[in-house]
Amino acid sequence: MNETDVVIIGAGHNGLTCAAYLAMAGLRVKVVERRKVAGGAAVTEEFHPGFRNSVAAYTVSLLNPQIISDLKLSDHGLRIVERRAQNFLPAPDGSYLLTGEGRTRQSLAKLSERDADRIEAFNRELEEIADVLRALVLRAPPNIVEGFGAGAIREALNVLGTAGILRRLSLPQQRSLLDLFTRSAGEMLDDVFENDLVKALYGFDAIVGNYASPYAAGSAYVMLHHAFGEVNGKKGVWGHAIGGMGAISQAMASAAAGHGAGIELDAGVREVIVERDRAVGIVLDNGEIIRARYIASSVNPKLLYTRLLPADALPAAFLDRIRNWRNGSGTFRMNVALNALPSFTALPGDGDHLSAGIILGPSLAYMDRAWQDARTHGWSREPVVEVLIPSTLDDTLCPPGKHVASLFCQHVAPELPGGRSWDDHREEVADLMVATVDKYAPGFAASVVGRQVLSPLDLERQFGLLGGDIFHGALSLNQLFSARPMLGHADYRGPLRGLYHCGAGAHPGGGVTGAPGHNAARVILGDHRALFG
Ligand SMILES: Cc1cc2nc3c(=O)[nH]c(=O)nc-3n(C[C@H](O)[C@H](O)[C@H](O)COP(=O)(O)OP(=O)(O)OC[C@H]3O[C@@H](n4cnc5c(N)ncnc54)[C@H](O)[C@@H]3O)c2cc1C
Repeated sequence: MNETDVVIIGAGHNGLTCAAYLAMAGLRVKVVERRKVAGGAAVTEEFHPGFRNSVAAYTVSLLNPQIISDLKLSDHGLRIVERRAQNFLPAPDGSYLLTGEGRTRQSLAKLSERDADRIEAFNRELEEIADVLRALVLRAPPNIVEGFGAGAIREALNVLGTAGILRRLSLPQQRSLLDLFTRSAGEMLDDVFENDLVKALYGFDAIVGNYASPYAAGSAYVMLHHAFGEVNGKKGVWGHAIGGMGAISQAMASAAAGHGAGIELDAGVREVIVERDRAVGIVLDNGEIIRARYIASSVNPKLLYTRLLPADALPAAFLDRIRNWRNGSGTFRMNVALNALPSFTALPGDGDHLSAGIILGPSLAYMDRAWQDARTHGWSREPVVEVLIPSTLDDTLCPPGKHVASLFCQHVAPELPGGRSWDDHREEVADLMVATVDKYAPGFAASVVGRQVLSPLDLERQFGLLGGDIFHGALSLNQLFSARPMLGHADYRGPLRGLYHCGAGAHPGGGVTGAPGHNAARVILGDHRALFG
């Protein structure tokens, strides 16, 4: 039996961030990870001989700059580069939109002068609200507490701090904030723009990892969630970590280990040990027991509470609610090895557009139909696919002259209707995704020399992402902010003493941000200092 100050369940990037901050503060930390590799959904793996890629998360923006700086991730080898163009949206009629610094307006003007005149103001409005999110991501949201005591005083101060941030917004900005938290992205975009491709550009962000129509209430928040990032100080920009997303988690692991944290791989947690309403340790799959003062979990909250904790150790009302935690982001992920770059009918040949996020989903109506189809059929027969070819920016991933691409496909059912299994439909749907790209870039299918296919079921099996949910729980209003993972537990503390949440199931939610790990570490350290000075 082992004993330490903190055990962290899961070496995803949030678990590693939490470990690094706690170890830096002098606590003895042990991270235990089920897989043979650290990084969770932010990993780089060889998926075909000689071809490596970020096999799950594939693009970086949301990673918090404060965390990059605090953990000195650049000293641990992290280098993030911007895409040469941000997004490329080809349409079936041969038109296209290409966005990025210095090019968006000009490209959009060819499609709609009216929209080209409006896009800057729209971006500014989004950016102003994204600034509020940025100010809120590295702090615990106000937590609802019952009764009056130290906790209530602490939360009253927290509410004042949060209100102070919101008060920076003018009244019109507060109205925009309300819209972005409650309305559908589709309605908001229809109010501003007329062109389908520009609406699809923002609409895609509203359905990424969100198994919903872009016209579903609340989808505007998901769009906003994808806008609060930055790359190398440039707000709203997406980039690439050289070596893939695994370079981020490897840098975090190196920072954590450098401060003394131990990271044990191939060490799945079977059970959290509870004694007298306190989490006091864990049992690994191999039977090893590790006791600790604090247990921080970075796994999906529903997984933690329904599979790793004995039901009778939890308050019944808490357990009832967490059983209804909504998972399932409706995504299907492929990695493909290519012997040639694709050539798109709308913009043939090589060029900066091949380093962009290439969105195949040319209108909001198309995205809405894709969702409707997935609801009844199990997947959309005309799916929405984002193609990213990181080897256009990074020559470490595959042999010279070859390429790797990520296909991030939206609108497949987390569980297939009619009791069918993803095990029986994985390859058929993968063929459909490749054929969808081939429609826009003829010859693409023939250039594929190897592929890895991850259905929602595979995402659950490989990464512990229940229902394949990339965010550890839907980003719906009832699962956000003070309600993530539940009203009364937004302060990173679970319902048992000594138990904390440090993964994407806590505020500010999914994405490679590091923020839940950072925020949980702060709470654990606060509790530790309150006890031991
Ligand atoms: C297909 C896909 C594409 C995505 N694309 C992007 C993107 O491009 N950009 C972006 O910012 N975000 C993206 N995301 C979202 C982002 O990757 C996740 O929200 C984020 O990585 C979650 O990090 P985490 O550390 O909280 O959890 P995870 O990364 O899920 O880590 C949790 C860890 O816990 C481990 N674990 C599970 N059960 C146990 C157990 N019983 N015992 C021990 N360990 C256990 C898991 O193996 C895992 O390593 C994507 C996610 C997916 C799946």
